[in-house]
Amino acid sequence: MNGTLGPLALYAAALEARRQAQLERRVRVVDSPQSSQLIVNGAKRLAFCSNDYLGLADAPELIAAAQRAVQRWGVGAAASHLISGHMTPHESLERRLAEFVRLPAALIFSTGYMANVGVISALADRASEIFADRLNHASLNDGAILSRARLRRYRHKDLAQLEQWLADSRTTRKLIVTDTVFSMDGDIADVHALHALAERYDALLMLDDAHGFGVLGPQGRGALVQAALESPRVIYMATFGKALGVTGAFVAADAVIIDTVRQLARSYVYSTAMPPGPAATIEASIDLAEHADARREKLAASIARLRAGLKLKRWRLAASHTAIQPVIVGDSESALAAAARLDAEGIWVPAIRPPTVPQGTARLRISLSAAHTPDDVDRLIDALQRAEQA
Ligand SMILES: *Cc1c(COP(=O)(O)O)cnc(C)c1O
Repeated sequence: MNGTLGPLALYAAALEARRQAQLERRVRVVDSPQSSQLIVNGAKRLAFCSNDYLGLADAPELIAAAQRAVQRWGVGAAASHLISGHMTPHESLERRLAEFVRLPAALIFSTGYMANVGVISALADRASEIFADRLNHASLNDGAILSRARLRRYRHKDLAQLEQWLADSRTTRKLIVTDTVFSMDGDIADVHALHALAERYDALLMLDDAHGFGVLGPQGRGALVQAALESPRVIYMATFGKALGVTGAFVAADAVIIDTVRQLARSYVYSTAMPPGPAATIEASIDLAEHADARREKLAASIARLRAGLKLKRWRLAASHTAIQPVIVGDSESALAAAARLDAEGIWVPAIRPPTVPQGTARLRISLSAAHTPDDVDRLIDALQRAEQA
C-alpha cells in the first residue's frame, strides 16, 4: 500500500531510519496504579521512571477525595473556562495556589505543556526577545516558537552569555525563561542570579518549577518560595502531574500578568477546562503535600543513599541533588542495552536518548520517590553496577 501512496512511503522510510538509529520509542502498558512497584506484561517491575516524587499518585486520601469530587461535581467541565466550564473547584484551587506559592494570582491549565505554550505566546510577540536556557523543557521552546518572538537559547546556566545577550538586546520586551530543576539532568538554576539579571535589564523572568513544586522549599511550596524572592517580574509555573501525583498545571504572578494570560493564552481560551474532579483532587493533594515533610525526608534519604552507594567506572552519575539522578552512558545503543539489562532483573529505568538530550549523552534517567525503600535503592545500585560491567 505504501508503494502506491507517496506520502505514507515517506513517513515509513523516516520511521525506519529512526529505528535503525536506535531512536524509536515504544509505549509500554502499565497494568497497575502508579507506584514504585508496577505490573508490566504480567510481571512486577521495581520502577525508577516516574515523576511521582512524593508517592502520591495512588495515595488513598487522594483516591477518596477524587471519588467525593466526582460524586459532587460530575466528570466533565463541559466548556472552556471563559464560557461556562469554570466551576467552584477550579476557583477554589486557583485561590489556594496563589496563597501556597505566595503570589498575587494564579490560573490553571489542563497540562504543563499547554501552560507553557499559552503563557509564553500570551506574553511575547514579534517585538519580543526570549532568552532561554538550552536545556529547558521542550514546551517552553514551543511556546517561544508560537509567540513569533526572537528565541535565543543560551548555553546551559551560562549567565555570562545571557547577560551579554541581554545587554545587546534592543527591545524593551525581554523574557528570560528557565526550568528551575532541569528535567533530564536534575540540576538547579540560580534563581537569584537570574532575577538580578532580570532587574538589571528590565526583563521578565519565567520559572518552570515542574520538578520543584511539592518537593523544594518550605512545605513543598517550590523553588520560588525557597528563594524567598518577592518580585512582580517573576512568572511562576508548575505542574500537578509530578510531585502532586495528579495532572494539570498553573501559572502564578502579578495580577496584570495573570489577567493578560487569561485573555490571550490560546491553550486556555480555546480548550475545555480540566474536569472538576481532578481540580478538587489537586487541591487535596496540595493539602497533603503541605504536611508531607516525612515524605520529603524519605526522598532525600534515598537520594543520599544512591549517591553514596553507587560506584561507577565508565558511566557517570550526574551532579544532581534532586530526585532526578541521571547516569550518563554515552551513545543511544549503550543506553538502551543498559536499560534492557536492568529490565531483565525486573528494574525499570528509562533510557533517554537524543533529541531529548544532546548527542553523546544518552542516559539512564533514574527518578527516586518517597515510595522507594532503602532496599529498593540498594537493589538498583547492585543492578546498575552489574549492568556497567556486562
Ligand atoms: C513535565 C514538564 C512539563 C509539562 O507538563 P505536563 O503537565 O506533563 O504537560 C513542562 N515543563 C517541565 C520542566 C516538565 O518537566
